[in-house]
Amino acid sequence: MNTKFDVIIIGSGVIGMSIARELSQKGARVAIIDRNIRGMYASYAAGGMLGAHNEFTEACQLFHFAKESQKMFKPLQDSLLSEVDMDIEYLESGLVKIAESEQDNPIVEKQFKFLHQHNTNTQLLSPKSLEDITDHNVKSPSLTAMLIPEDNQVNAHKYTKALFHSLAKRHIQFIGHSEVQAINKQGNGYAVLTQKETYHSNKVVVAGGAWSGQLLNRYLPEHQVTGVKGEVLLVEHPTLNLNTTLFMTNGCYIIPKMNHRYLIGATSYYDNYSVGVSKSGKNWLCEQATSYVPNLANSKLIHQWSGIRPFGLNGKPIMDEVDNNLFVVTGHHRNGILLSPLIGLKMSEWIESGRKPVAFEDFSIERSCRT
Ligand SMILES: Cc1cc2nc3c(=O)[nH]c(=O)nc-3n(C[C@H](O)[C@H](O)[C@H](O)COP(=O)(O)OP(=O)(O)OC[C@H]3O[C@@H](n4cnc5c(N)ncnc54)[C@H](O)[C@@H]3O)c2cc1C
Repeated sequence: MNTKFDVIIIGSGVIGMSIARELSQKGARVAIIDRNIRGMYASYAAGGMLGAHNEFTEACQLFHFAKESQKMFKPLQDSLLSEVDMDIEYLESGLVKIAESEQDNPIVEKQFKFLHQHNTNTQLLSPKSLEDITDHNVKSPSLTAMLIPEDNQVNAHKYTKALFHSLAKRHIQFIGHSEVQAINKQGNGYAVLTQKETYHSNKVVVAGGAWSGQLLNRYLPEHQVTGVKGEVLLVEHPTLNLNTTLFMTNGCYIIPKMNHRYLIGATSYYDNYSVGVSKSGKNWLCEQATSYVPNLANSKLIHQWSGIRPFGLNGKPIMDEVDNNLFVVTGHHRNGILLSPLIGLKMSEWIESGRKPVAFEDFSIERSCRT
């Protein structure tokens, strides 16, 4: 087995795989290493919302990245379909943001003012329009709601799986069930140590999600990256006709999926790396979802799962070169699916050319620590 590569990527989540795909396009010999522990990841567990507007309240660099990345999904769906014959279920469902209580009305109004400056398609909904758009499932006459038509969605599980299948097509070496234990400097490059084997490469990318900080503890201050556990439920309701994602200001959401299914998410537990759905988490999700859409009380639970989101200190992603040709790309928290196509492209350009994109200055470790 070959143990020498141009680039080794640690982590086969959407971030690592998107970078690998782009690098292989440029002709690099790439290997991607993952330990594959069930539940100890984010990408397969995500809701799949492409919330480039919903997630932002100011015109920061990440907002611009998010909008650019969102636009890449339609062509990406076509490209993955023709490459690996897998449909990532890009659905033009749009998103309705709703205040959790009257107290939160000003939050939605303020965000609307900001978003409307950048996207005139965003609109405030009257109680009647909210009822119409949700097929009379949501009746909240006193709560402010806005429609964001561009915030569509994919099936995150299928998207992650499609990227994985595309690795093989592109002759990217996948080294599975291998936990990286250390990354040591060796000559001009690095030795990447797993229990079974040592791999060598001039360039290494750590895209290990919430565990990236542990792998790079020599370079990253403690708590620079933490895990935020999230739990979700997938339910089925054969007659509910809800076609738009609903997102409440308290973080609860209902995403309509294919085949009369609805994904209800998500809890957030900081610095929690445990696997599985807790009773209290499940209760909270059920209570919240049925308080907005009472009809969901008659749905059937199909599946439930959890995942660990990578959270960068101050809520910012970390995309930096921590040593010569040793990169870290993590901390995309609730937006890693959304951002993955653009981050894959930009990081591959940086890794190949050695020139850091100016727009990435905002995501360096030093800057994140200072703010
Ligand atoms: C419940 C939930 C809902 C979400 N909803 C959305 C959403 O709607 N929209 C959106 O855009 N984002 C969403 N996210 C966030 C998104 O899933 C993440 O930001 C994104 O998946 C992070 O990708 P990643 O590749 O950085 O990390 P991961 O997917 O966690 O991948 C990291 C990989 O690194 C591997 N690894 C770690 N350490 C090692 C090691 N030492 N050796 C070998 N392998 C290692 C892990 O096994 C893992 O496979 C959600 C997340 C959760 C949990």
